[in-house]
Amino acid sequence: MDRAKYLPATLPSRRRLLQSAALATLSTALLPTVRAGAAPRGLDYPQSEWSPASTSNYTVADRPTSHPVDFVVIHVTQATYADTLAIFQNPKKQVSAHYVVRSADGHIAQMVRERDIGWHAGNWDYNTRSIGIEHEGWVDKPQYFTNALYEESAKLTAAICTKYAIPKDRSHIIAHYEVPGSDHTDPGPNWDWTRYIRLVNFA
Ligand SMILES: [Zn+2]
Repeated sequence: MDRAKYLPATLPSRRRLLQSAALATLSTALLPTVRAGAAPRGLDYPQSEWSPASTSNYTVADRPTSHPVDFVVIHVTQATYADTLAIFQNPKKQVSAHYVVRSADGHIAQMVRERDIGWHAGNWDYNTRSIGIEHEGWVDKPQYFTNALYEESAKLTAAICTKYAIPKDRSHIIAHYEVPGSDHTDPGPNWDWTRYIRLVNFA
């Protein structure tokens, strides 16, 4: 297979790649929060921390060239932030999302590159056409939906929508339960969509 055709036109040098790999390791070990603008190369959203999912849990692609990115799918984890990261890092789980937002402070982990296809929607077509964002919490525990979680998630969704020219509305920023064939209920009735869409539009 001609791998070169899947690579971006401007490649970082090998030295740069090695440096960024070293930085990524360092940032995980030593730097719990990555300053804006100081993120290691390879992240799609600079305000996030790269915490990669197992390569067994997503499909490598070259979006938006290989597939259009038309939707953002909003999820709630039904697990703690730490447990969610562990699940996506476990090759036996066969599940992933691009981002996970922490309840207490809105901290964001990126786990799958946006160009790759996360396994989050329970519908292959929607997986290929969407970015999945998980939010720490439970559908029946609204206290997990903090100001910080809404605000930081909305900034992320706004950046994604701008990047891929996705309209910032409820037809394109959708709930997991709205994905055809989904048997999930997240983010549930306590998710404040009016507030969220407003935040996305004013982020
Ligand atoms: Zn979900």
